[in-house]
Formats: sequence, structure tokens, C-alpha cells
Amino acid sequence: MVKFVCKNCDYRFESKKMKKCPYCDSAKISKELDAEDLVRELS
Ligand SMILES: [Zn+2]
Repeated sequence: MVKFVCKNCDYRFESKKMKKCPYCDSAKISKELDAEDLVRELS
């Protein structure tokens, strides 16, 4: 499962496939990085 966050309503959810926000039906969603991923991105 991958965590996603909706950029429209900030709703967080887990899904195997990213499609739409289940809350507001927006397609503006992105992967939510966990702390480990953030560290990797910044370095
Ligand atoms: Zn949403």
C-alpha cells in the first residue's frame, strides 16, 4: 500500500493505485513521503 495525500482537500489515504481522492474526487493527489523518503530527497 502506498500513502497518498490529496492536494485539494488534504485528505490522506492509502491505495494500491493512485486515481482520485476518495473524499473530494479530485485527481490532484500525490504520494505522501514518509520521513525516510524526505531525508533521502533532501540529501
Ligand atoms: Zn480530496
